[in-house]
Amino acid sequence: MNALAREIAAIIEQEGPITLERYMSLCLQHPRYGYYMTRDPFGAEGDFITAPEISQMFGEMLGVWIGEAWTAAGKPAEARLAELGPGRGVLMSDVLRVGRVAPGFLEAISVDLVETSPVLRQLQARTLERSPTPINWRANIGEIPRAPLFVLANEFFDALPARHFVKAGHGPPQKGGPVSGAFFGWRERLIGLNAEGELAFGLAPHIETGLPLAPPPGSIVEINVVAQRLMSEIARRIVADGGALLLVDYGYTQTTLGESLQAVAQHAYVDPLAAPGEADLTTHVDFAALARAAREKGAKVQGPVTQSDFLKQLGIERRAETLRRKATARQLADIDSALERLVGIGDPREHMGEVFKVMAVMHPDAPEMPGFASRSRSNETS
Ligand code: SAH
Repeated sequence: MNALAREIAAIIEQEGPITLERYMSLCLQHPRYGYYMTRDPFGAEGDFITAPEISQMFGEMLGVWIGEAWTAAGKPAEARLAELGPGRGVLMSDVLRVGRVAPGFLEAISVDLVETSPVLRQLQARTLERSPTPINWRANIGEIPRAPLFVLANEFFDALPARHFVKAGHGPPQKGGPVSGAFFGWRERLIGLNAEGELAFGLAPHIETGLPLAPPPGSIVEINVVAQRLMSEIARRIVADGGALLLVDYGYTQTTLGESLQAVAQHAYVDPLAAPGEADLTTHVDFAALARAAREKGAKVQGPVTQSDFLKQLGIERRAETLRRKATARQLADIDSALERLVGIGDPREHMGEVFKVMAVMHPDAPEMPGFASRSRSNETS
């Protein structure tokens, strides 16, 4: 047992089993042992690689989009450009470099980086040392001053803690009687201690109401209350003050049964309970639930579309062509493999094009923005 596992075990002994939401929060955000609080997890030597770390072309396409969103909003002076969970700051640095193509954009914005990790804040400051605009660090979106708000979030929502509910039996069925449906209900999946005193999954004793009854026993649902609440808050701000959110993450487009909790360390899947704080814990993003949360606040939603469709419509292939013209032979191969990783379709560990989705949340008066034409164009040849 590592130090965080011992601390979690002590909490469970005192307070009883804890929810997955609390467990994930402790693993990722514990001030001393939390995964993101203690390390730089990115890159080939780290635990995983994200799109901005693969190629500058990713951030450039997002930068073009956010500049156009600002232009379409009437070029508000004193706007905020925020990023949620900026990692090493590479995406923001690419966005600010192409920000020049939207005249007036860089002069109008202040940058807000929403980041809890002191280690990553330091790396972000280094990457953005020569930023053309002032940079502010925030612990949450509520700290950003009121103004038209343009938000980027790549692989952020998947790091927010989720809850699991299992359709399971409760109490003993009447002796000799039939095992009727009435004995089954949704019970929250909790983390407790097994007979050996190790962390183990179990179920809450009581039944949750308010979840659909139809699914058969054994079903599991994953609900990300924290993500939905955050989406509501962002949508409310965008509707009140103007602006847009561009969200990129892996996930699914329809709310479905099943769960997607995964723990990753050194580019491999590991047991999520084995060494808390030492692996990245995530779930897939439920885009439909987030779209509902945004629309409920009166925001306009475009997408989700696949990352492949979005980046191609924004012109990533033309951008790759321009870069190729100035490239050495070695760089040529890098550009081609980066493009293939970002927009290619296939094994999700090598191709991000399909499992990653892009969704925009905007002020209701915003025009249709580029990138979200629904037809998949992945079969087109050039
Ligand atoms: N967007 C980056 C990094 C994604 S990893 C990239 O694409 O490379 C998730 C990031 O979100 C990290 O920077 C992590 O420290 C931050 N983070 C995770 N949970 C957070 C929370 N609740 N509040 C603020 N930042 C958080």
